[in-house]
Amino acid sequence: MVYIGFDVGGTGVQVGIVSREGEILCKGGIVTRIDIPFAEQVKAMADCALVTLAKSGYSLDDVAAVGAGIPGVVDPRTGHIAFCPNLGWKDVDFAGEMKKHINKPVFMDNDATVAGLAESVAGVSAGTHSSVFLTLGTGVGGGIVLGGKVWSGFHGVGSEIGHMIIEMDGKDCNCDNRGCLERYCSATGIILSARAAVMQYQDSAIMVKAEGDPMKINAKIVFDAAKEGDELALRLFADYVKALATTIVNIIHVIDPEVIALGGGVSKAGDFLLDAVRAEVAKMVMYKTMPYARIEIARLGPDAGIIGAAMLGL
Ligand SMILES: [Zn+2]
Repeated sequence: MVYIGFDVGGTGVQVGIVSREGEILCKGGIVTRIDIPFAEQVKAMADCALVTLAKSGYSLDDVAAVGAGIPGVVDPRTGHIAFCPNLGWKDVDFAGEMKKHINKPVFMDNDATVAGLAESVAGVSAGTHSSVFLTLGTGVGGGIVLGGKVWSGFHGVGSEIGHMIIEMDGKDCNCDNRGCLERYCSATGIILSARAAVMQYQDSAIMVKAEGDPMKINAKIVFDAAKEGDELALRLFADYVKALATTIVNIIHVIDPEVIALGGGVSKAGDFLLDAVRAEVAKMVMYKTMPYARIEIARLGPDAGIIGAAMLGL
């Protein structure tokens, strides 16, 4: 049997035909169109999946289930997508609409959650008892997998780790709260902090790499400058690591997972980030003589969205 997985994004929908082991057999995609009604959006997705399925050499009889990872919230009580702001969806019956075209069981969950599931099936946390995935990109998302199953909470709003408050009355977040992790550990957060800081450190290597234009600063520039020993960049990097390590320690103390996987664009910093985070976490965990979560870089990259969505059907 094979599984259809949709990675629904604000700019495009990627679809994959995925094996039981989490291997993508064939891939397709369409551009997201928010100017057409919901029913037509779903039909376009289904059509793309059916074309991709035919290309893969499998037929509908071989399909066990359909899954979708969406940048939004699924209400487990109604099975509806409660809201998905990027696509303009509010309380929509995605499963019901999809079944009109592909009559198979349909599963949905938050995009970061499914990426975490993908890592637990075919990635860095494969075969583990429990794992927590953190995506460090434009925003910060979280995925919790316990005993092979995703945990999204009773109301469907669990695992919003990006909005864990790590500083009381801290920096303003997009969600209207203050002090959320996302504001400190997303690429956006790094950029905002660096832009503010370079005003007082015009001679920082960050400014050299950004060609003197604060608007050109990105997370990679800040981390690269830190690797070279630039004083300001090292300070920004230390703040970043402290915030991320604080979150990880909180996760360890609440969930105690076997693995914590770091994904998303910022995680491309690799060992430079990993070594610093591991060292900081070691200082902060409570039971210092006990083993605790392995902290690793996620392995699957952008394909995790498709794979995890498909694996919801497992
Ligand atoms: Zn927030």
